[in-house]
Amino acid sequence: MSFVEHARWFAPPPVMAAPVPPGRVTLVGAGPGDPELLTLRAVKALRGARLVLYDHLVGKEVLQYVAEDADLIYVGKQAAHHTLAQESIIDLMVRLARSGRSLVRLKGGDCFVFGRGGEEALALAEQGIAYDIVPGITSAQGAGAYAGIPLTHRDHAGTLVLATGHLCSRDEVALDWAALARPRQTVVIYMGLATLPIISRELQAHGLPGDTPAALVEQATLPGQRCISGTLAELPALAAAHAVRAPALIVIGHVVALQPHIYRGLRMPAL
Ligand code: SAH
Repeated sequence: MSFVEHARWFAPPPVMAAPVPPGRVTLVGAGPGDPELLTLRAVKALRGARLVLYDHLVGKEVLQYVAEDADLIYVGKQAAHHTLAQESIIDLMVRLARSGRSLVRLKGGDCFVFGRGGEEALALAEQGIAYDIVPGITSAQGAGAYAGIPLTHRDHAGTLVLATGHLCSRDEVALDWAALARPRQTVVIYMGLATLPIISRELQAHGLPGDTPAALVEQATLPGQRCISGTLAELPALAAAHAVRAPALIVIGHVVALQPHIYRGLRMPAL
């Protein structure tokens, strides 16, 4: 072997860009709105973040915990107006993490309660990207506490159901109506404002009396919170009369009858 060949043999491999270790994704539930409902883990994640992808339901007060020089990307979704389709959000997260950037994925309420956090976590797991999850207070809990509706009560409801009112097809909400119409249960429906007439009609058709107490809680835990209560049969007309807008939850069940009594003594610092 000549010297040149020998030297080549021992020469270091040609210089190549070192593979960038993938970044980490932290899925964070921001709670229903009042920034005081952020968990300590959420605040820690926000303060330490260099990049935050946040949703429509995350308010300015919550974003104040993000460092001023961090990058914020709005990937919000509203019922009729999708800024980025879910697939594109997942794609963006994966690409950013692969390029070495750690990020916080910030969602309203809890990531795993109608937050599509399950789809995002599955995609990250499939792609081999490390992630962790910070639970948030879901809006049903926020609405219950801030409007004065106990979600369960020994005398009134032994079961709590969280359901989506989102349309499955053009005029169909694919819900197990018979299960939702059971007695002694509280049903909280997310994303149900547009389908409220169908919800009210179907629950009554499946045996839930029209005079069952029911409420709409708009902007729960936020300064603009409104709680409009009446009966299951009246609720669609009440929503229209009061021009209730998203975000709002529908709460159905006898616990709603306790609301005025509990609210009377309630002094929430944020409202
Ligand atoms: N992951 C969220 C829910 C996202 S789905 C959570 O855990 O709360 C979006 C729906 O949540 C809205 O259409 C509305 O029904 C409900 N929602 C979220 N924030 C709300 C708020 N502050 N007040 C009332 N409803 C709210």
